[in-house]
Parts: sequence; C-alpha cells; structure tokens
Amino acid sequence: MSATLEQPLDLVATNAVLETYDPPQVVAWAVKEFGTDLVMSSSFGAESALLIHMATQVMPDIRIITVDTGYLFPETHEFMEDLQHRFHLNLWRYHTKNDPIAYLKEAGETEATVRIDRDRCCEVNKNEPFDRAMQKHQPKAWLRGIRRDQSTTRQDRKIVEWSKRFSLYAVSPLLNWSSREIYRYMKQHDLPFHPLYEKGYASIGCNPTSCTRAITIGEDPRAGRWAGTDKIECGLHLEEEGGSGI
Ligand code: SF4
Repeated sequence: MSATLEQPLDLVATNAVLETYDPPQVVAWAVKEFGTDLVMSSSFGAESALLIHMATQVMPDIRIITVDTGYLFPETHEFMEDLQHRFHLNLWRYHTKNDPIAYLKEAGETEATVRIDRDRCCEVNKNEPFDRAMQKHQPKAWLRGIRRDQSTTRQDRKIVEWSKRFSLYAVSPLLNWSSREIYRYMKQHDLPFHPLYEKGYASIGCNPTSCTRAITIGEDPRAGRWAGTDKIECGLHLEEEGGSGI
C-alpha cells in the first residue's frame, strides 16, 4: 500500500484494508506511509484532544495546523494553550488576514454575535488561512478528525482520499467511530474535553451565536453549528473552497 510519485496509492485496495483497522492503527499506518510529510489539523474543539493524543503517541512532533478566524471563544484559546503545554505540541497557528472588528464593518455585518453572510466569512477567515497553511507546508498527507456520523456530507467519505484541492492524501482515522467510542477513548486516556463541552457545546467553532450554540438533550451533536440554516460545513473538508464547513 505504499505511495510514491510514480506509484500513487491504490485507494480502493487501501481503503478496503483500512476499513478493517481501528483508528490508532490507521494513524500508525499514515505515519509509516508518509512520515514527516504528514501533518494534522485541529480546531481545538470539543473532542480534539483525542486525535491529538492518538497522533502524538506515534509521532510526538507531528505538525498541527490550526486556524484562528479572529472569532474563537476565549475558552478555545485557553484549551489550545492547555493542550500545547500538556502534549508539547508542534503547533502552527494561521491567523485570518482580517482585523476581526474591521471585517465586520467592511462586510456590513451589524452585530458581532450574528454572522449574516456566513459563507463569505468562512471563506476569508477560515478557508484562506488554511489554504495558506497547506501551501506553506506542502504536506503529502493530512490527518483530520471528521466522522461519518457528524453530517450528511461526511457519510460517503473514505478513510483515505485524494484531495485535488490540496494535492495530498486526506486521512480520516475517526471516520467510523461513534460519539460513544469517542467518549470511551477520552475517558480511558483521561483526556480533557473543551471547557464549553460541559455547558452543552457538543461541536465548537466560532463564537457568534449564529455559528455555535449549545445543544439541548436529544439534539444532534452538530445541531448547534450554524443553527437554523442549511450550512453544515465551514468548507475545510470540502473539495470546493468556501463550500457551504471543522
Ligand atoms: S464559523 Fe462563523 S465566525 Fe467563524 S469563520 Fe465561519 S461564519 Fe465566520
């Protein structure tokens, strides 16, 4: 299952094997396959400590790319600092080029707690910094934390895919795990959840209430993201830049 420029991965055969692996085995495969050409992304969201733990167990200095949109919760910054300190992370932060206050004015956004044009805001404040990070690092592969049960757009994803947008292999070790399996791993390894998790925030992005809100009992974990709209992705995991979703 080895990939070289002359001999790319046979994705069908590789995925058939990877589907039989558990997430730590997929991570170990990716590290063996791509070595230092592997990066990972993290939103430092509700359960982000899990993939960070899994990856750094195998590759302690893996480059971790994160985007600061300018609109993160203060708790997310604190959580990032905590995890960086705890795991000695090789963390690469990419900031939006926009001043957060000036952007609102320029974009005609009248309330700081509500984003009217969410696609444009995600495109310039989230996707642009991530695209910039990928251009800078030029990895051959990218570990990401998406799961099939998070949204309809993720149900058909494969554990390893070729991303034309970033010209790399996107590897999703957690694709088949449920919330229960995530919770079990977190508890087993004594990993911290994001500080807002206990306040009902099951999926955490930016701080406008139109982008992230707490969920109520029985709601889907991602129901609090862009609630009341048909937007379910910021776009980082879509092949089309700025598409309608971490
Ligand atoms: S999640 Fe909301 S605040 Fe964050 S970049 Fe997207 S639209 Fe902007």
